[in-house]
Parts: sequence; C-alpha cells; structure tokens
Amino acid sequence: MSSKVIWENVKQCNYCGKSDFFLFMRSTEPHWTGDEPLTMMECKNCGLVFASPRPNATQFNKNYLVGDEKARAVLERKRNRPNVRALHLNHVKKALEFHDNKATSLFDMGCGAGTIMEAAKELGLDAEGNDINLAAINELRELGFNAYHGFTNQLELPKNNFDIVINFDYLEHSYNPYEDLKTCNEILKMGGLLSLKTLYLDCPDHILKSDRYQLFRACHYHYFSARNLASMVYKAGFEILELNCNNLIFIIARKMVEASNDRPIDYYDYKIIDTNLKKEKKVTHRKRSVSIVSRGLSTPFKASDIGLH
Ligand SMILES: [Zn+2]
Repeated sequence: MSSKVIWENVKQCNYCGKSDFFLFMRSTEPHWTGDEPLTMMECKNCGLVFASPRPNATQFNKNYLVGDEKARAVLERKRNRPNVRALHLNHVKKALEFHDNKATSLFDMGCGAGTIMEAAKELGLDAEGNDINLAAINELRELGFNAYHGFTNQLELPKNNFDIVINFDYLEHSYNPYEDLKTCNEILKMGGLLSLKTLYLDCPDHILKSDRYQLFRACHYHYFSARNLASMVYKAGFEILELNCNNLIFIIARKMVEASNDRPIDYYDYKIIDTNLKKEKKVTHRKRSVSIVSRGLSTPFKASDIGLH
C-alpha cells in the first residue's frame, strides 16, 4: 500500500443522489490509514451516512488488485478464521431453506477467501463470486470456480441467473452500496433470495462504544441505520422476509420486482425493525455514546418530513 493516500470528497449521496450533507461524527480515534481522523457525513435528504473524504479506491486497494503478498496474507487470515466452514455452511443452509431447498445456484458478492462458495458447492450448488483480491480469485479459479475479479460495479455479471446472492461483510466496504444492492437484484432470478449481513449504526455495540466501535475502522465507507438499510433493500426491488438486529444486522429478502422499479426512496413497514431493535436495547447507554447517534436512532426521518412525496 502506498504511504501517500489520495483522498477524495464524496460529492453525491450514493442512495438518493443529493449533495446536501451535514457532519455526522468526527472520530477521536486514530484513523485506520494512520492519516487524518475519520470524518463521517450524513445525507440531509435520505439519512445515509458515509466517510468523506475517503481514499481513492483503485490506489488504496492496489495490493488486492494485483494480488501481492499482502493480498495473500489477507486471504490466509480469512481462510483460517475459527469455525468459518461450519458458520458458512449454516448460512447457506438457511438461505436454502428460505428457497424451499430448490435453489441450484449461488453468487457471493465480495467472496473473500471463497469459503461461502465452498460451502455452497458442498451442498450441491453451483457457486460463483467476485472479489478485488486477485490472490483469492486465482486460487478459486484453480479450484474450478467461476470467480470474477474486480469491483462489483465494474463487472459484467449475468442477469437473472442465480437463485441465491450472498452479501456478507461487504456493503460497509462499498463505495456504491445502493448500486450493489441493485446488482444483487439484477443477477437474481425473480423470486431469488438475497442474504445480507453488515454492521449497523443503531446496534448496541455501537451505542456503548461510540467512536471506538469497530464500524468506524478498517476500510468502512458507508454506515447504515436499520431503517435506512431496509429502505435501500426494498427500493432495490426486494421484499424483506427476515430481519435480525443484534451486533450485526442480518436480512433475508426476496426479489419481487426488477431493480429498475419506481419504488419510493423511503417506504417500508418499519414495525419489523422496531420490534427487532427493541429486543436489543437492554444495554445501558453511556451519555457520551448516545449523543453521536443522530437521526438514525432517535428521530428517524419520514419521507413526508423531507418532502419526497
Ligand atoms: Zn441521500
């Protein structure tokens, strides 16, 4: 990785396309680049929170893109995580159950070491995936997988092709989370399933740890409240079948309409989210911590409040 990071300001909200932002938080923790402190902005229109400035993606990820020794080290670390095989088998089995065990194909967006693809293959599925880590992609190709190399939004992926799309520990790293959710929709067959896991702003861990929370480290560029994420998944053409909020947020959703639909930007029955969040609010809030969570937790925006409808 180059010692000199090229920084870029975000000009447009990735979800709603607007350009009016306010400061959400400036972390007091050292930035993971060792450079400037992390600064997060919130879109005034839709509430999406993101890092700005952020490193130039191609320059910052060149180790992964060329698959050098650092990329291989990350591959090894991911492959050797404890219980990863059993965990990933269970995640794929769960998605299969939601698909009445009729699924035959799976795509893993941001497949990392390919452990989900291997689990899917073990369960009899055709598994494909993509990642920017060329070392991982080369190994997966040697194992016989159809593995795509590169940023998702720069790939030509087959449309209406998969029964299940996995999107785990990915969306927080993306510069284009809404486009990527639309891509999940586009590559799924109608009725296909999205299984999504990411970090989220209103989780108990975040509220307790505030700017020391892991969400604010290690190349995370977008930050979702449960409501915001559910809106994005819905607008990308899905129906949410299950939403679980604990230290991570898990969503299982079904493709109901094409990604190019005209659904509103903030429309969802939030009862399921409120119920799930309440279950997890047994933590004692620290005063300092709560104050940094702005609208995402305390006063969630409504479309009518901001003149969208
Ligand atoms: Zn926005």
